[in-house]
Amino acid sequence: MNRFIMTAAAGILAATTAHAGVTESDLKNDQTMTNQVVTNGMGRHLQRYSPLDTINKENVDNLVPAWAFSMGGEKQRGQEAQPIVYDGVMYVTGSYSRMYAIDVMTGKELWQYDARLPEGILPCCDVINRGAAIYGDNIYFGTLDARIVALDRKTGKVAWRKKIADYKAGYSYTAAPLIVDGKIIVGNSGGEFGIVGMVYAYDADNGDLIWTRPMIEGHMGTYMGKESTMTGELNATWPGDMWKTGGGATWLGGSYDADTDTLVFGAGNPAPWNSHLRNAGTPVDGNKGDNLYAASRVGIDPENGEIKWHFQTTPREGWDYDGVNEVVAYTDRSGNKRYATADRNGYFYVLNREDGAFVSASPFVKDISWASGIDETGRPIFVEENRPGNPAASADGKKGEVIFASPSFLGGKNWMPMAFSQKTGNFYVPSNEWGMDIWNEPITYKKGAAYLGAGFTIKPNYEDHIGSLKAIDPETGEWKWEFKNDAPLWGGVMTTAGGLVFFGTPEGEFIALDDETGEKLWSFQTGSGIVGQPITWEMDGEQYVSIVSGSGGAVPLWGGEVAKKVNYLNQGGMVWTFKVPRQMAQN
Ligand code: CA
Repeated sequence: MNRFIMTAAAGILAATTAHAGVTESDLKNDQTMTNQVVTNGMGRHLQRYSPLDTINKENVDNLVPAWAFSMGGEKQRGQEAQPIVYDGVMYVTGSYSRMYAIDVMTGKELWQYDARLPEGILPCCDVINRGAAIYGDNIYFGTLDARIVALDRKTGKVAWRKKIADYKAGYSYTAAPLIVDGKIIVGNSGGEFGIVGMVYAYDADNGDLIWTRPMIEGHMGTYMGKESTMTGELNATWPGDMWKTGGGATWLGGSYDADTDTLVFGAGNPAPWNSHLRNAGTPVDGNKGDNLYAASRVGIDPENGEIKWHFQTTPREGWDYDGVNEVVAYTDRSGNKRYATADRNGYFYVLNREDGAFVSASPFVKDISWASGIDETGRPIFVEENRPGNPAASADGKKGEVIFASPSFLGGKNWMPMAFSQKTGNFYVPSNEWGMDIWNEPITYKKGAAYLGAGFTIKPNYEDHIGSLKAIDPETGEWKWEFKNDAPLWGGVMTTAGGLVFFGTPEGEFIALDDETGEKLWSFQTGSGIVGQPITWEMDGEQYVSIVSGSGGAVPLWGGEVAKKVNYLNQGGMVWTFKVPRQMAQN
């Protein structure tokens, strides 16, 4: 019943604004308006929780395909998108910066848009895209040449198209954009090329730039075309000119906490990877080598781009532990308003939503080697001998000491989003149990060239599994259960009021688990690997579930010894949509 009241309220609001189509109210109430999915994360808090329970533990074994859609062509790899569903249409992005509009009832294509990509784009980690954003009568997405494109949602015609940054310098864009109060808010990719991480807000109507906020101290923000404020304090935590090419890419986009009116974006690794070049290799003069705000989460005012707070998960970063993983706003069982994030560095953090202050941290993978724990201020307790050595200290100055570090640089968890269940109060975290040999090398910055100063080989930590989906109690850090998978998990998770946890594996299985026990209740082989993100919605009283299937992403490209667990898998590009036939859903 709630749904109909909400829909009516949204309709009234729409009538009083200039916008047809999707309104701010639609975006705000995405979780409870279960007949559509209009945000990345199924709510801008990124909970990926649906209050729908038509499909539940009792009847999920009756879940069958309703339709499947091929993305076609020869560009079949790395399908990481979350679909959007609005007004009878599903919008899904594909690899190589493509977008499709599909009749959500039948699976028939309505239109397709292919971005014309220039020669020389520099995506680090496959030609992927993670999804669209919708507002008014436009549907938006980022392209691999670092542009944002607005398309008419009915025709697929370009409404506007803006350059975010220079692809020749290594910038690209792959995350789903975030829309708040008529502003479309995006980040940038390119942390392996010595770019500078930035958050950008554009007017969703015409693409005019409203503000920018760099993530590296010393760089100036802008507001309405003029300089606003400096990020941090010049050279407070960076030596010399290293901040100028300091990394901190905002490549996974952000979340929005409506209760505190705060955008939360993460910043990736400081550049280059060789931490000794950034004073991070040994503790120098207090926190001089922390390299703010790389490897941090940053709370930002959506109105003007000013920083409200920051929390650095990995100061003195030296293992490529990007701080970009999604920050989920939720209320715990005791009624506390919290953020949670599962960092690349292997720790699950809980922060206070008012000010980003540290509440707790606990390991969500088994063999963390670079730190022995997190202290009461939220700062890691470093294991100094587990930092890759300084090449300048080696006999020929060319290669520092090789160490084995866990987790690997692809992280205890990478980009693939976790889910929070309002039903159980637990988080469901797609993690990987792996480590790496890593060493440092000399490097100097050169525009458009990889800026690492490091070499590496990823290795599994266990014979029988790398992937590990864990149910985690955010109040205690306790693991309620663990579901092991041979290959590394690389796709998103979704929970429902029906007591189900949906996710896919690189081996191609789309799976529903029991949210309380981790027991496998249902699975379906989709024909290629799953690195996409599930959604659910209802239409004419029936609940639907969709997932994109198509192998790829960073693991086959960067996985070292681990790549053999996935590189035999067939490429693909299919949207699968499922439902429980009406008669079988009634129990
Ligand atoms: Ca990185």
